[in-house]
Amino acid sequence: MVRVIMLSPPGAGKGTHSRWLTLQTGAAHISSGDLLRAEVARGSDLGREVAAYTDRGDLVPDELIFRILAPAVVAAARDTGGYVLDGFPRTMPQALRAAQFGADLALTSNAVIYLTAPEEELVSRLLDRAGRDGRADDTLSVVKHRLAVFAKETAPLVEYYRGRGILLELSTDRPELEVQADLLDWLEARGLIPAVGVSPERAGPAPGLSC
Ligand code: AMP
Repeated sequence: MVRVIMLSPPGAGKGTHSRWLTLQTGAAHISSGDLLRAEVARGSDLGREVAAYTDRGDLVPDELIFRILAPAVVAAARDTGGYVLDGFPRTMPQALRAAQFGADLALTSNAVIYLTAPEEELVSRLLDRAGRDGRADDTLSVVKHRLAVFAKETAPLVEYYRGRGILLELSTDRPELEVQADLLDWLEARGLIPAVGVSPERAGPAPGLSC
């Protein structure tokens, strides 16, 4: 079963491709951003604490993320044995703790997908999404800040996972079907999904952009 980490700057399509990959594989989709937004929507004290970070485009403290995420990962382990982690880990301390947690539960990640696109394309996609979804953190100044946070806090994870030999770097600055076909080919070649071949029909379109 796939146990995938989706690593990407905002706007590169990790939400879209994560949801699509879970449909293809039956693994659980765990989106840290969705879990945080649900907490904010509940209007709890924790949600208010979370919103103070997410509205500015800052990362939520590691402790808080673990408190919210750990139950979802444990449930994924119980229900499917696999996961697509969308938006986590995002800092080196999170990555190291996730590795320990994965080892304890016999659920160590076996693939990291690093999605890329030129910065002007990322900004333009997020501003388009703002028009559709009205996310509080999709304004131009917050988007710029989120990209800077990615470069500082999250980009170092790319070399960490490349060094572990489990990283696939994929440009999403091209048709979605091509990205999906390359992704399935790679997972198949590594024996992470059954070798049934990739066809354009199998690589179907995913619902609207969410990064
Ligand atoms: P996303 O939906 O993945 O773009 O995440 C939206 C926001 O949630 C981010 O800008 C952060 O403020 C927060 N967030 C999501 N995942 C994490 C994480 N792993 N660590 C810290 N903050 C996070």
